[in-house]
Amino acid sequence: MIPLSVPEISGEEWAYVKKCLDTNFVSSVGPFVGEFERSFAEFTGSPHAVACASGTAAIHLALRMAGVGPDDEVLVSGFTFVATINPIIYQGAAPILVDAEDRTWNIDPALVIEELERRHARGLKQPKAIVVAHILGAPADIAPIIETCQRFSVTVIEDAAEALGASYLSGPYAGRQVGTIGEFGCFSFNGNKVITTGGGGMLVTGNAAAARRAKHLSTQAKIDGPEYLHDAIGYNYRLTNIAAALGVAQLERLPEFLQRKAGIAAKYNAALGAVPGVTLPPTVPWAKSTFWLYSILIDKSIAGTDRKTVLEALDAEGIQARPVWAPAHSMPIYSEYSRLGGEVGLRLFSQGLSLPCSAGLTVSDQDRVIEVLVKALKRA
Ligand SMILES: *Cc1c(COP(=O)(O)O)cnc(C)c1O
Repeated sequence: MIPLSVPEISGEEWAYVKKCLDTNFVSSVGPFVGEFERSFAEFTGSPHAVACASGTAAIHLALRMAGVGPDDEVLVSGFTFVATINPIIYQGAAPILVDAEDRTWNIDPALVIEELERRHARGLKQPKAIVVAHILGAPADIAPIIETCQRFSVTVIEDAAEALGASYLSGPYAGRQVGTIGEFGCFSFNGNKVITTGGGGMLVTGNAAAARRAKHLSTQAKIDGPEYLHDAIGYNYRLTNIAAALGVAQLERLPEFLQRKAGIAAKYNAALGAVPGVTLPPTVPWAKSTFWLYSILIDKSIAGTDRKTVLEALDAEGIQARPVWAPAHSMPIYSEYSRLGGEVGLRLFSQGLSLPCSAGLTVSDQDRVIEVLVKALKRA
């Protein structure tokens, strides 16, 4: 079987985890947690980083830090994994699901600006925050969102769970990595992400006080000292030393993983670019995607076959492909929430297919994926 996206464990992982076991530092106290936070902050160019139990926990902490509560609304990417959205509901707030745009498949800044301007003109309460996801490794067009949100005091949180290492090439944030632009950036080290700790996440921010507060909330808001005294309702959102040891080892490999994924994407682009009815993953001149997942669109009216048929053909050959997500507004669990647009997300869902693209994907395995895929598309 050729899997969609699996970890590559071939560096210092064993050695660092052994250190945890040998020293008895297996839980959330131990030197690897701090080391992971420091090296992650350095890699992303973010002043502060707080290790968390998951990417979802990092997003939840960011919303809590932004003061999001039951009377608030929060704008959010609607075409994303549910973990971008659910923490808004954990806080008792109401998400407003914003459609994607064709250029990036990410949140459409025009819809965001229009909504904030509309509310301003009518004297309506503004959303407390916005959660911008950078999906599939591709940076969202964040500059116009930041500019407008600053005008209306809306806190910008980036969900960079899928886009570690992606960056802006021009514009006001040229040279900066995704996740470091908004007030808070959130990352995930789940097993299918570009680097993994088994499970884990990271919250980054430029605000030192917010980083300290987030760490405090992630450790049950316990006041230092021997007594069990707590000054807020916190969470158990810590990362363990063992997970952090994996993280340190994985981070050492990240530049290589990103390079390999760029090579995999370039090879798919070259092989699929001229196939009728196939749209390649979005690329824009002003930002660099990591192609965390390499996803294409299949337009049935041109290709003569649809996403589902192609997926089945790949599956029959032991190749694991996956549809992209259904936009949140199409799922009954979110039907009570309002939305802005939604047609683009629906179309991406009906046509989108992610192909195997692990950093460890071999040349011969990728050749086989391409061969089976092209055959399935030509059969039509
Ligand atoms: C993976 C992911 C998350 C959540 O990360 P976990 O570590 O699994 O909690 C959040 N948002 C997006 C877009 C993701 O892909």
